[in-house]
Amino acid sequence: MPGTLYVVPTPIGNLGDISQRMADTLAQVDFIAAEDTRVTVKLLNHLGLRKPMTAYHRHNLDTAGPAILGRLMAGECCALVTDAGTPAISDPGEDLVALCAGAGVPVCAIPGPCALSTALSASGLPTARFVFEGFLPQNKKNRRARLEALRREERTMVLYEAPHKLPGTLADLAEALGGDRRAVLCRELTKLHEEILRMPLEELVALYREREPRGEFVLVVEGAPPREAEPADLDGALARVEALRAQGLSLKQATAQAAEEFGCRRRELYDLTVGKR
Ligand code: SAM
Repeated sequence: MPGTLYVVPTPIGNLGDISQRMADTLAQVDFIAAEDTRVTVKLLNHLGLRKPMTAYHRHNLDTAGPAILGRLMAGECCALVTDAGTPAISDPGEDLVALCAGAGVPVCAIPGPCALSTALSASGLPTARFVFEGFLPQNKKNRRARLEALRREERTMVLYEAPHKLPGTLADLAEALGGDRRAVLCRELTKLHEEILRMPLEELVALYREREPRGEFVLVVEGAPPREAEPADLDGALARVEALRAQGLSLKQATAQAAEEFGCRRRELYDLTVGKR
């Protein structure tokens, strides 16, 4: 029988966020697959644990993944951790989970710290619908395409960014979405110098022209206002009814089809057609 792959989030800054279940899981598994074993050993020391570890990071996915799968298939249990936060969220893990799920290895995700949900829940922006964009592409063409796609995005957007790229990203977003778009910049979440700034993108741009970006950042941006429905083209719909009638459709069939095609109300179109006669 295969063992289980446990996806184990770790604190994004505050060790007080270690949960009992997280600690118990790390204590119980046979080995840990860690993004950086030097980082994870500090967490294990804090918990008073010693565990065999193997490296699993974006540069060795192709070899480390099958090796970890082999051990799971042989019955060992593994905890997957990254340097901070939830594995597989802008972090290694997605491929290993897919590999295990495809091979019938049970996957158990432990809920825990994640910069995305921490920032979103603190933002005060609408949370019923949101999109997680992670890091914007660095390649110019892909970045432009992504920004263009976000221009009309109506859901709240959540982005990660490295400190040295923050000013450029703020400027690009202000240009693409409009400087007056509301945004919330979350810095050093759960840490001593946690800061949550709520202001329009253009003010964040101006602020980070003066300020050196230090620490870790999540940016939450308000979605675009909902687009107003286009007024239905009633003249076009009436002409279409006539054309469909000429093709032999009944009045009822023709108004139903034309209403569907032109996005107008069937009854209204029917009444207009009858009124015209
Ligand atoms: N998987 C991680 C998670 O679930 O939070 C995210 C890993 S990603 C490589 C690292 C990015 O997460 C950082 O560049 C930053 O955008 C964000 N981040 C991580 N910790 C943070 C913190 N304490 N405060 C603000 N942002 C943080």
